Amino acid sequence: MTGKKYGRTDGCVRCGRRRGIVRRYGLHLCRQCFREKAPELGFKKYS
Ligand SMILES: [Zn+2]
Repeated sequence: MTGKKYGRTDGCVRCGRRRGIVRRYGLHLCRQCFREKAPELGFKKYS
């Protein structure tokens, strides 16, 4: 994970957005960041 500190993970750990959070795969990212991060994590697509 990159970016800000995230002791509290109310929102996306990357951008802090709280809408559309994806809590799958042990992540805590908004959909937008998830899509950007997914390839790095081995996910080819988000559906
Ligand atoms: Zn985000």
